[in-house]
Amino acid sequence: MVDELEHKYEVEVKGREGRQKIPDNVKDILKEGGMMDEKGKLKLKGVSPKMLKRMKQEYVECPVFKEEIHFIQCFVCPNFQSRVMGNVLCKGDTLKD
Ligand code: SF4
Repeated sequence: MVDELEHKYEVEVKGREGRQKIPDNVKDILKEGGMMDEKGKLKLKGVSPKMLKRMKQEYVECPVFKEEIHFIQCFVCPNFQSRVMGNVLCKGDTLKD
């Protein structure tokens, strides 16, 4: 059951028109984890191209970093637990970026 997961925040996922740039440090993390190839193409397991397209337009107002975070970055964040409907369940631990 989802609500048995321990999390501190439920963060609403918001969308906007057009693609957003993924920060370079996040690209490095994605590449190290095999989630992005050298050309910058994302390869996330279990994520369809259609979902990926939508994810690229999404962001969260992150309660930990206190800024807008690209959803892809949020998705690979150590605090990310899961996404339920339009919300990210976030552990809320203090992180350094
Ligand atoms: S999972 Fe990470 S990026 Fe996403 S809201 Fe929580 S701290 Fe912010």
